[in-house]
Amino acid sequence: MKYYILFGPPGAGKGTHAGAIAQKYNLKHLSTGELLRAEIAAGTELGLKAKDLISAGSLVPDEVVEGMIENAFESIKGVDGFLLDGFPRTLPQAEALDAILSKRGEKVNGVISIMIPDSLVFERIAGRAKIEGRADDASPEVIAHRIQTYHNQTEPLKEYYRAAGNYYEVNGYPGTIEENRNRVLALVETII
Ligand code: ADP
Repeated sequence: MKYYILFGPPGAGKGTHAGAIAQKYNLKHLSTGELLRAEIAAGTELGLKAKDLISAGSLVPDEVVEGMIENAFESIKGVDGFLLDGFPRTLPQAEALDAILSKRGEKVNGVISIMIPDSLVFERIAGRAKIEGRADDASPEVIAHRIQTYHNQTEPLKEYYRAAGNYYEVNGYPGTIEENRNRVLALVETII
């Protein structure tokens, strides 16, 4: 099995381009944000715990997402690998992922990092808010907090994966969604 990570700030286009990558290489797209929103919609205990943290633009506890990812690795069959979107987001999560994979005799095969400037994060999320109606997209304060959380807790993972020798970066701007998707797919083709 192959394990790829889609990395980047909120609004970089991870979710937008994940489907095309997953389909082309027969990977299961796993978005921790989507899995959490499904738990909230289903009114599960986990969803109830996660709801306020997500609406505030904060991260949910590491163990929660680590458990969801490990369950998915165990239960999903019939694919050539996984495309992780929005996980890992902290150093402990990255270390936990390495531990989960090493138990299975596997490793992270590549990190595909889509980069956009902070100013574009605001613009894109404001646009998405009108279409998807996510609570954590609605307020400028919450968006700003997510950008801060990204810089403080998630961005340091670049160095972690650079040191591991499997970090690849591509610009998620400018251009249309299709132009960006083609740029991302071209990078992926060189590493997969
Ligand atoms: P975005 O791409 O806009 O950041 P996501 O759908 O990836 O949106 O995530 C939405 C929210 O779900 C995050 O702001 C966070 O509260 C929670 N979340 C998602 N993935 C993780 C994770 N790996 N660790 C902790 N919290 C997470």
